[in-house]
This record gives sequence, C-alpha cells and structure tokens, in this order.
Amino acid sequence: MNDEELLRYSRHILLPQIDLDGQERLLASHVAIIGVGGLGSPVALYLAAAGIGHLTLVDHDDVDLGNLQRQIVHGESSLNEKKTASAKARLSTINSTTLIDTIPKKLSEAEIFELTKRASVVVDCTDNFETRHLVNRACVLSRTPLVSAAAIRFEGQLMVWDPAVEGSPCYACLYPVDQPVEINCATTGVAAPLVGVMGSLQAMETIKIILGIASEHTGRLTTYDGLYNDWQTFRFKKRPDCPACGQS
Ligand SMILES: [Zn+2]
Repeated sequence: MNDEELLRYSRHILLPQIDLDGQERLLASHVAIIGVGGLGSPVALYLAAAGIGHLTLVDHDDVDLGNLQRQIVHGESSLNEKKTASAKARLSTINSTTLIDTIPKKLSEAEIFELTKRASVVVDCTDNFETRHLVNRACVLSRTPLVSAAAIRFEGQLMVWDPAVEGSPCYACLYPVDQPVEINCATTGVAAPLVGVMGSLQAMETIKIILGIASEHTGRLTTYDGLYNDWQTFRFKKRPDCPACGQS
C-alpha cells in the first residue's frame, strides 16, 4: 500500500478488525452488484469508498426521473443514461483507483453463473423474484457468498448466504421458487431512506465477509420497519428438499 492509500484508508486501518491486512483484502476483492437502483446505490457508493478493488455493476435499465427520489448514485445529469454508466461515472469521482466493470444488459442464467464464479461476494440489489432466485442458485452452485436485501414501503429485509458457514440456508430455503412474491416498489411505493438503511447493511455485511468476520446474519432474516423503527430477526433452517442448496 502506498502513502496515499495509507492515508485514504487510515480510518479502516485504525480498526483492529480491519488493519492493514484487512484493507489489503478489500483492495484485492471483486464484488458483483446485481441491480444499480435504490439498494445498489448505497452499496456501490460505500464499497467504492471503502476500497473494494474491483466492482462489477449489472443493470439493464436507464435512469429515469422516478428513480432520483432514492437512487442516490444517479443524478439529474444522468437522466436517460444507462444506470451502469451513470453509476460508474459517479463512483470514479469517489475512488478513481477502483476498477469498475459495467454490464448494461439482462444476464442469462449461464452468464450470471460465470459472473458469480469470478466474484468474491455477490450483492443482490434486484427488485424481482425471478432474478433473485437465479442469482441465489448461481451463488450456491459457485459457492460464492450472497448478500441479499429487499425494500418496499417502509419495510426492509436482509439475509446472507455464506458457504463458509456450515449448513447456511439459502434464499430458496426461505422463499420457495414455486411461491412467487411479486411485489416491488413500482407498485407499492418506497420511502427514500429505507433503501439507504438496507443498502448500507448490505455493504457492511459484504465487507465483513471479505474480512472473514462470521456473519451474524447467516441463517437469519432481519427485518426493519422504518415506520416504527422496529427490528426483528427470524431464524430459518436449510431445507433438505431446497431446489437450490438441497441434496437433490
Ligand atoms: Zn436452499
């Protein structure tokens, strides 16, 4: 690490849980962020600032006016641009040393699998059930840790799948593939800072996984109700018949 990096990351290096070794690990890691919208914005901003060396941003959408209420990585000057290009431009102003790949299209199942194989951690910031399951299955197959969150109205939830934790249940253990939950913020609405809360938690869990700090979120669904500032945690178990991580 050069002098400039030592200064830039000094507040991390001061933490005994990170230190020089941990910051080197962050700099050497590759995080794939699937979806660069409400959740993906704080995830990408914090991970770039924190010194993740390589980010891959995946999103097929363009920035529209209805996004700007909460998707803070984008601005008015990026309207109608690809979200990936808009986010890359903004992140480069925060940390020009972060390598940023962009994939401005919908990925096939095979392409998602190829990406998860190359990533240290995958962060699911999508807003639809089908893609969540594709990403989950790819992560289970490639044994890549997954940090998944969702946010609608004033309600958020977070879960982590980590192959390093024995018996860690996956997203499909919690939400069976054949019972779709098709609600998203385009139909229900979402409070702006909610995605900031949940996306920041995703960035935190991603950093902890890279540092090798066992995630307390593994095997637990954490929910947050912003209206009442109410946090709850539900434990859930690996399902032997899970189509993603089960024996079959
Ligand atoms: Zn499972």
